[in-house]
Formats: sequence, structure tokens, C-alpha cells
Amino acid sequence: MSELSAVTVVGGGVIGLAVAWRAARAGHRVRVIDAGERAASWVAGGMLAPVAEATPGEEELLELGSESLLRWPGFAEELVRDSGRATALRTEGTFVVAVDEADRADLDRLAEHLASLGREVTRLSARELRRAEPSLGPGVRRGLAVPGDLAVDNRLALAALRSAAEAAGAEFRDGRVRAVRPGAVELDGEELRCDVAVIAAGARSGELHDGLRGRIRPVKGEVLRLRARRSALPPPTRTVRGPVHGRQVYLVPRDDRGLVVGATQHDAGFDLGVTAGGVRDLLADAERLLPGIAEYELVEALAGLRPGTHDNLPLIGWLEPGVLVATGHHRNGFLLAPITAEAVLAVLAGQRPPAAVDPERGHDGGGRPCKC
Ligand SMILES: Cc1cc2nc3c(=O)[nH]c(=O)nc-3n(C[C@H](O)[C@H](O)[C@H](O)COP(=O)(O)OP(=O)(O)OC[C@H]3O[C@@H](n4cnc5c(N)ncnc54)[C@H](O)[C@@H]3O)c2cc1C
Repeated sequence: MSELSAVTVVGGGVIGLAVAWRAARAGHRVRVIDAGERAASWVAGGMLAPVAEATPGEEELLELGSESLLRWPGFAEELVRDSGRATALRTEGTFVVAVDEADRADLDRLAEHLASLGREVTRLSARELRRAEPSLGPGVRRGLAVPGDLAVDNRLALAALRSAAEAAGAEFRDGRVRAVRPGAVELDGEELRCDVAVIAAGARSGELHDGLRGRIRPVKGEVLRLRARRSALPPPTRTVRGPVHGRQVYLVPRDDRGLVVGATQHDAGFDLGVTAGGVRDLLADAERLLPGIAEYELVEALAGLRPGTHDNLPLIGWLEPGVLVATGHHRNGFLLAPITAEAVLAVLAGQRPPAAVDPERGHDGGGRPCKC
């Protein structure tokens, strides 16, 4: 498909909106349909952090994330220009820190893994860490500075993407799509025609097309949003994350003394309830890193569903002629939004998606995931 077309995007999270904005800007006639569910994008920390999150065995994800990270500054600049809104892009980087011996061993493994991949990291002593971030607790003994990782305010970015998409001509409609077929989407009993439908419905994407059944699973994550009261020490200036007694926790600062603390990770179906245990663990781990948090106001506790795939890489490309998919971004939807929108436009223009995200991978073609 190379000529300009009528594109219907199912899902108005960060992926659907990024695709809609870029496609409308490129001249496609774009309609976005959203069911108004709690999007993972509304819950996310907003870290754009492929390096601090690097995991052995996920080298393709690190490559893809790094490529997308490179695009973020330009993407954010154009977004601000097209929308007239802020994204609060932060450039201070990340500190990965450790409190006990086992956590320090995890930190050393991360440093070695990154060094083996030629990535820049700097080891920091407790004194160096506290000089840069005075609010860190006395239990924090060692850390790594990861420069270059970015962060955005997820909610500001979503509002900016919607405004930019509207300014580029995209139309928005509320409602739940029941099924997607070549040339049409079925919306509350009505059939809406289009040339191309793009499935970007996050964790619900698997319900919309046979080619996705069983391939997208919801991965629940709980987060807390806090605000430093006037009497409390302000949040750190950069993202601070760490294993704390083996559990991952991150603290992402927001403007106006805000702080996002995340995140738990569970396979719990479509459950969006916040558990007492989740809140307890997040607060306890965050307090080890940032003792002053006990004086913060707890503003929100909420859960979202990451769209997971078998290899933690997204699916971007044709499911069949007229039906495109852009989902499965798991814990990296914000990070991967620029490269995803670019890949969808390339596919619309007749090119193949990058092999790492091709929906054909790890799949037997009959709507079932293969056992690889
Ligand atoms: C706790 C947590 C922390 C995270 N932190 C980060 C982070 O720091 N950095 C990062 O890059 N990523 C992070 N993520 C991951 C990121 O949030 C997701 O990868 C991303 O939001 C997925 O975007 P999406 O647009 O595919 O799906 P969503 O944001 O879930 O949006 C899907 C949309 O589709 C709509 N929809 C669903 N079904 C239908 C239907 N049938 N018809 C019409 N509309 C429908 C919904 O209403 C929703 O608006 C985090 C996720 C969680 C849960």
C-alpha cells in the first residue's frame, strides 16, 4: 500500500496516538476509536530508559529501544510544536543504586553486561551519589550513572499527542471495537469502512483479530503517585531505580515536586485492582532509597496492564492485507513510540517492518503462538 489511504486506528494510548499523529501528518485520512478504558499509557512511569533496563538475553530490545531513544528529542520537539503543549522531557539520566550485598551483585552484573555491549556507565560511590542527589537514604551504598536515558511526563505526552493528531486532521470517536476485518472495523454493531485498520488496543488487542489470539497477555503493574509537601525534601532530579532486596523499584520525578513510584509486575488477567501488598512493597522499597518519602502526600495508587508478548518485543506489521498491528510494547510503550510510528508509516508505504518486530516471528501463521 503506497498511496495515501483512510486509516482507522483502534486504541488511543501512546501507540495509537503516535501512529495517528504521524499518519495524519503524512497525509493519510485518520480516525481514532477509543473505548475509554484505563490505558497503560495513563499509568506509566514515562521512563525512556533502554540502557538502565537492559537485561541479558534482550539485546534486540536494547537495540530497538536505543534507536527509538535517539529519535525522542526530535519527536518531542515536533510534538511540542504541533500541539502547542509541553511533554516535560527530562534529560538528567538515571542512577541505578543498590542497598544490600545481593543488590550490589545485581548492579555489578548490570555494569558488566552494559560494558560488554560497549555502553557508557559510570560507577559511583555513596558519597558521589548523595552529592548529586542529597535526598538518597544512608542505606544506598553504591550506584551506576546512566547518562542519556530520558523521561517524559506520560500524561502530558498523551495530551500533546492527541492535540497534535487533531491539529494534523485526525478524527476521534469514542466506542468499543468488537472486531477488525480487512476494510472495516465493527463498532458497537456498526461497520466502519477504511482502507487500513491499525490494531493498537494495548493489552486488549488479542480480542480483535484471530491472528493475535493468545499472543498478547496483560501484565499488571501497580504504581503510586506522590507529591513532596512543602516541609519535605524535594524528589531527586533524575530517575533513581534499584533492586531493593531483589525487587525492582523506580522513582521518576515529575514537575511540581511530583514523584511516580513503580512498579509491581504480575500476570493477573485483566484485574486492575490495587492490592494492599503492592502498595506496601512499593512504599517500603521507595523509602529505602528515599527516606523523606514518608512525608510526601500519597496522591494516587493505580494499576495498568502492559501488553506483553512471548519475547517482550512488540508486533508491528501486516496481519493480513488491510489489517496492521502495532502492539505488544510491554514495559516500553513510551520509549518505543517514535520508532513504532515510523515503522507503521514505512509499512503503509510498502516497506517491510524491522525483522525484530515482524508479527510473523515466533508464530505458526494459524493464529497460535509457536512453541519457540
Ligand atoms: C505500571 C506501568 C509502568 C510503565 N512504565 C513505563 C515506562 O516508564 N516507560 C515506558 O516506555 N513504558 C512504560 N510502561 C509500558 C507502557 O505504558 C505501555 O507499553 C504502553 O502504554 C502501551 O501503549 P498502548 O497504546 O499499546 O496501550 P494502552 O496505553 O493500554 O492503550 C490502549 C487503548 O486502547 C483502547 N482500547 C482497548 N480495547 C479497545 C477496543 N476494543 N476498542 C477501542 N479501543 C480499545 C483503550 O481504551 C486504551 O485507551 C508502563 C506500564 C505500566 C502498566
